[in-house]
Amino acid sequence: MLQLKNIKKSYTTGEFTQVALDGININFRESEFVAILGQSGSGKTTCLNVIGGLDQYDSGDLIINGKSTKDFEDSDWDAYRNNSVVFIFQSYNLISHLSLVDNVEMGMTLSGVSSAEKHSKAINALERVGLEQHIHKKPSQLSGGQMQRVAIARALANDPDIILADEPTGALDSQTSEQIMELIKEIAAEKLVIMVTHNPELAEVYADRVIHFKDGRVVEDSMPLANQRVNENYEIKKTSMSFATALKLSGKNIATKKWRTALTAVASSIGIVGIALILSLSNGFDKKISSYESGSLLNFPLTVTQGISTSMSNMTGTDFFKEAEGAYPEESKVFSHDAAKEVVVHNNIFTDEFMNYIKKLDSKVLDGISYSRNVNMNILKSDGKTASAVNTGSVNITSFPTKIDGDSESYLSNYYELLAGDYPKSENELLLVVDKFNQLDVSAMEALGLDYKAKEINFEDIIGKEYKLILNDNYYKQKGETFSINSDSANLIDLYNEKDTINLKISGIIRANEDVGSAALPAGLAYSDTLAEFFIDNAKDSNIVKAQEKADYNVLTGEVFSEVSDNPYAVTREKVLMSLGASVLPNTISLYPSDFTGKDIITKYLDGWNKNLNDDEKIIYTDMSSLITGLSGGIMDGITLVLIAFAAISLVVSLIMIGIITYISVMERTKEIGVLRALGARKKDVTRVFNAETVIIGTCSGLLGILLAFILTIPINIVLEHLTGLTGVAELNPLHAVLLLTISLSLTVLGGFIPAKMASKMNPVEALRAD
Ligand code: ADP
Ligand code: MG
Repeated sequence: MLQLKNIKKSYTTGEFTQVALDGININFRESEFVAILGQSGSGKTTCLNVIGGLDQYDSGDLIINGKSTKDFEDSDWDAYRNNSVVFIFQSYNLISHLSLVDNVEMGMTLSGVSSAEKHSKAINALERVGLEQHIHKKPSQLSGGQMQRVAIARALANDPDIILADEPTGALDSQTSEQIMELIKEIAAEKLVIMVTHNPELAEVYADRVIHFKDGRVVEDSMPLANQRVNENYEIKKTSMSFATALKLSGKNIATKKWRTALTAVASSIGIVGIALILSLSNGFDKKISSYESGSLLNFPLTVTQGISTSMSNMTGTDFFKEAEGAYPEESKVFSHDAAKEVVVHNNIFTDEFMNYIKKLDSKVLDGISYSRNVNMNILKSDGKTASAVNTGSVNITSFPTKIDGDSESYLSNYYELLAGDYPKSENELLLVVDKFNQLDVSAMEALGLDYKAKEINFEDIIGKEYKLILNDNYYKQKGETFSINSDSANLIDLYNEKDTINLKISGIIRANEDVGSAALPAGLAYSDTLAEFFIDNAKDSNIVKAQEKADYNVLTGEVFSEVSDNPYAVTREKVLMSLGASVLPNTISLYPSDFTGKDIITKYLDGWNKNLNDDEKIIYTDMSSLITGLSGGIMDGITLVLIAFAAISLVVSLIMIGIITYISVMERTKEIGVLRALGARKKDVTRVFNAETVIIGTCSGLLGILLAFILTIPINIVLEHLTGLTGVAELNPLHAVLLLTISLSLTVLGGFIPAKMASKMNPVEALRAD
């Protein structure tokens, strides 16, 4: 059944060629116990390895069941080793991290025997060698003789045709040797056993046939066999190791070095933790920014202010801490100083054309538009008996933003919460704005005629509260050169009760939404701009305005106007006229963009007005939100990229580390590779074993990284909340987590790939020789 035909094999190391087998011709019977004797170095092991397909012959032929192996491919050899032939080594060659059963099962695992069958066969084999009580032990817990029994059980379990034993008793004492020989002889009754030994006595006693080797040749054969015809249709079932088996094998190997694996996983998870944290931070910031986007746009609309704009440095106080040059002069003189001339940047002059230009803005890009006018509307409050003017110095009275088509509700409901009542349905209806604590300053309450002494006022008591708007001609009466209020100045109740007044009432109470932050509208009263337009429309033809237009003094006070016309702080005729409602042009236009894209469109639109205009005709606007949001968007992206780059470096480091770890593992598991190959594992299977190992480590480090990053977001958020007041900034996106896990896995597999390939290329004979 097995024929060696003129087998030659030599090893070349450097310039020296050692002939190990020098034309071996042996025919073996289907079942016999052959002992090969010979001096050390005579080629016995080499011959056995050639027979077992662990080593390839140089020339000649090995014929298995009548089939030449000259054209055998790797996979044929693998299948042959797995199904037909099995090795018993002097050094047992058990896989140390597997239990006895697992060791015995390994050959069958490779040939894909079902696990139940595998297990029962393994138990049977272990029973047969008398180790049934030790099946769950690890090889290191056994004596040498017991380990050799396990190796024999492994050989038996696979039910091979040929058993090759290389000095199986070489490491055992004589009594144990005899027991092992008994066992092997028993097996040889039904199989072909070829045993190498240098003990002639054992050979004489147990073997059926003794062959002597010398210098790579057969010098004596006690029972030679002539050529015989045998079954030509020799087919061997191919082996294959499933990835699950590889995982199990590596899992058990890893289990024996828990600490190293854990540390490796921790170390290589650092990169993942880094990237995960950076991503979760930038993700969180992005979310915060977009939720603040509308808020910040609301707080900082684009504003266009009529009149002189002054340099910001005075307001922001950049000079404040600087020792001003020429400060604290020694001279006993007072110096004149024109603040206006020094800080004037530009003088915006609004025109009706510009107002129309603004009104033509696309309402899609504009959430709302509001005008602030320096008009002093004559609003009165009354408690029934007495009446007085609502003091605009004590309470904010502002117009709320509306859409260009006049719709105010859509803007307000976006950013404000209606606490009570309704949104205004006409210009006669006002809104009361409260701050985030539902508070209103006592002076404002007093000004509005609310019970400012009470600790709290119910919403119902405020809704419906009435005021009166008095038109200029009713409000002012002329008295010689000046005008004064047309009533008893201590009690305006007569004025209040006049026929030609306009009724106003509070229709609702609003408060800025929680996620908007601070509100654009200050706490106080808010009216629709149509009310102001109505008032102005009437006021511009009123007597007081006509008188003021002619007079070079303030018609309310009689005070002569300053001649320093450019001084922004001086009271001028224009200012008085504006407060009397003479001008239809607002003081400030606030534009609330719908979003950042909208803002870009609006700023381009405003720039469009200035095209082809002289510098002094241009109208400049202020974009406060750009100071805040410009910072967040672009810079955050940049910082994120830089940080990711750093974290990526640590990923590369872990890639290299995994490579080294796998390399070390390959070195450590060299013997296991040899055993697996001897049992019929394909090169592919060996690669698989190590890939499985890196998959395990990669998955562990990935999962660990994600977990650590997730846990770390908690303290990071606490710290950030303390520093910035932002809550829940760091937030790991599940998609990022999955992505990072995949990256970690691919990187570790990549890192382990070369060592795993290296392992598969390892010569099985050399691998077995490793210790
Ligand atoms: P035995 O098992 O009879 O002691 P071997 O078959 O191991 O002898 O070795 C036969 C000869 O081949 C020896 O001279 C040995 O040095 C040489 N040899 C065996 N394996 C190798 C190898 N991998 N590289 C170089 N020489 C080898
Ligand atoms: Mg040898």
